Amino acid sequence: MTAATDEKSKLKYFRVLLKISGEALMGSRPFGHDIEVIDQLCKGIADVYKLGVQVCIVVGGGNIFRGSSSASLSSCERASSDYIGMLATIINALTLQNFLEKNSVNSRVLSAIPMTTICEPYIREKAIRHLEKGRVVIFAAGTGNPFFTTDTAAALRAIEMNCDVILKGTQVNGVYSADPEENEDAIMYDRLSYMDLLTRDLKIMDASAVSLARENSIPIIVFSLKGEKIVNIIKGLGTYTIVLSGCKR
Ligand code: UDP
Repeated sequence: MTAATDEKSKLKYFRVLLKISGEALMGSRPFGHDIEVIDQLCKGIADVYKLGVQVCIVVGGGNIFRGSSSASLSSCERASSDYIGMLATIINALTLQNFLEKNSVNSRVLSAIPMTTICEPYIREKAIRHLEKGRVVIFAAGTGNPFFTTDTAAALRAIEMNCDVILKGTQVNGVYSADPEENEDAIMYDRLSYMDLLTRDLKIMDASAVSLARENSIPIIVFSLKGEKIVNIIKGLGTYTIVLSGCKR
């Protein structure tokens, strides 16, 4: 067995959806992009890609604009604010694509809001073809609808693409009973059920995203983008919380 086939035999998931929040792209900056952080993140994605895993990405826009908070601060209607938020996710998607290509990863951006001079419009069949041809697919503009979030877009696209798992990269290494920064007694869960997430208001993903994942039995893995290599997560190694159906706690 060659080293490469040995590595591949350790994989638990073959088509994954990685949800990256906008905040993960800004490092310690208050806003925007931290180029080094983005490059490191894309190197981690390249490691997974080189093993032949089919990777879908949904990126948020919170590092640039978040509709709900901006609507309450300005006189903008919520729907207009949300459209601006979706445009922010396109900026992030194009940035990620650039850094992926720099790391020798073929990728395409598909936007739920057509913007045909800079990226492709989202067409499900096309997205699947890109994955089959060995390209990372970055889904931009969330669901394309106001009043939703990119977490819901992540669940939706993961189901449409028949992904094996949703990888929710966060700033913490899993789901805790309370905010670990504020409460030193907070415990981290290894496993949770979808109902646990919904009924305990654990605030890791919004309820519509969790409900979609639950109805379609797609596991959600919550892990730290800073603290854990994505390639380890795909091998079932490292620290994370997995959310599954029928999991007793
Ligand atoms: N958004 C939206 N519909 C969607 C996805 C996103 O209206 O389907 C808007 C919404 O205003 C949101 C912003 O885009 O606040 C950025 O997305 P999100 O807050 O999910 O980004 P993240 O928190 O992951 O950085």
